[in-house]
Amino acid sequence: MEKKLYERPIIRPLNTGLMNKYGNRTEYMPVTHIEGASVKEMLKKYGSPLFVFSERQIRENIRSAKRAFETRYPKVQFAWSYKTNYLNGICSIFHQEGSWAEVVSRMEYDKALHNGVSGDKILFNGPDKTDADLREAIKNNSPIHIDHLDELYRLTEIATELNVKPRVAIRVNMDVGVYPMWDRFGFNYESGQAWDAINKIMATGKLNLIGLHTHIGTYMLSPNAYGVAGYKMADLAIGIQQKFNTTIQYIDMGGGFASKNTLKGSYLKGTDIVPEVAEYAEAICTSLLNAGFRNNDLPTLFLETGRALIDDAGFLLGTVIANKRLSDGRKATILDIGVNILFTSFWYDHKISPAQEFGSHTEDTVLYGPLCMNIDVVRENVTLPPMNAGDNIVIHHVGAYDITQSMQFISLRPAVVIVDKMANPHLLKRSETLEDMQRNELVPEHLKHNKN
Ligand SMILES: *Cc1c(COP(=O)(O)O)cnc(C)c1O
Repeated sequence: MEKKLYERPIIRPLNTGLMNKYGNRTEYMPVTHIEGASVKEMLKKYGSPLFVFSERQIRENIRSAKRAFETRYPKVQFAWSYKTNYLNGICSIFHQEGSWAEVVSRMEYDKALHNGVSGDKILFNGPDKTDADLREAIKNNSPIHIDHLDELYRLTEIATELNVKPRVAIRVNMDVGVYPMWDRFGFNYESGQAWDAINKIMATGKLNLIGLHTHIGTYMLSPNAYGVAGYKMADLAIGIQQKFNTTIQYIDMGGGFASKNTLKGSYLKGTDIVPEVAEYAEAICTSLLNAGFRNNDLPTLFLETGRALIDDAGFLLGTVIANKRLSDGRKATILDIGVNILFTSFWYDHKISPAQEFGSHTEDTVLYGPLCMNIDVVRENVTLPPMNAGDNIVIHHVGAYDITQSMQFISLRPAVVIVDKMANPHLLKRSETLEDMQRNELVPEHLKHNKN
């Protein structure tokens, strides 16, 4: 056994939140294992960098979110937001836990079918549904969430031609006191657009209006905004009941609950200021229960929560390539993780942990990625102990959007694994190969001969 170096014991101050004379609180305790699986062994086996998911954390997140709503409201249904993370293995966990699918494109729609979700449990959102997409959704009895009048007219035409009554909801946007307002999707509440769409649907009688949908924004820090949205949605549903004697089956409150990541420029850490799912649940359920529905007419509450259920279950493991001093004396560390696979580094100051033991010295460090691009900065300034080339790091809270928005650029994209409850890693996606990347490339005949 290798003899360990003696190191003088130190007392590490534990600060809560605010800066004190020792600097920021220690966010750099070593992380050597994820759910019991060794970081270094996984990197050896699957290559660096590597995305790692915790199955336990995902299941815990969806179960506790369901509990938060189901203890406050009688009829609740979650639908997994595919664009937040549509790796089939990840979606499958949510479907095993009872979530439907929420999709915003034909590609995602087909992925949900491929994952075994029955058509009537796929909520079809988004502004871009072609006639062919609408026909497919009608065939499968999927709830279609209408985004704009042009879609409403096309859908009405197709329904007339097929002589069927598709199940639809309208997407509603509204002023919830958070600006800029998300008014580009759906029909506006305050201006009367939403009522205009409802009146048109009811007047033609060609579509079966079963729901109302909204998605007020993303990384919303205010539960109260959802309370306001809940009242406005309920007001529409009750209005429809009174005017047309039609009961709206569901109100879909979308997603957008903040995850525990820290927004850039935020003085306090996300883990300290982001509301719990229960606080969003309280705001939404209270608004619906207080809205004045007759007891039997309470609509089912749909939720399309994405990032809050997956962000903290994802980790990105990587390796230090080199260290250098910048001309102003700052320390710089180059990682093999670039912003092309960590898109959210444009908005978040991710928590970063060394994956091995280290001494007591720390230094403000800028973390660069490996791309030959000036924008390739993972953290502009983070307090870290010195690390050597070949040392490993763990980036936290990368489960939402980093995989779906990752960009094939300069190098090949890494593998993704999930660690099960027995601490065993399983591949969710192999690392990309040059062959994968070039699969759809063609070289015209006259370009095939080069002079070398
Ligand atoms: C993106 C999206 C979601 C999920 O949003 P999160 O911020 O990840 O919770 C839900 N519904 C719709 C319509 C969306 O576009």
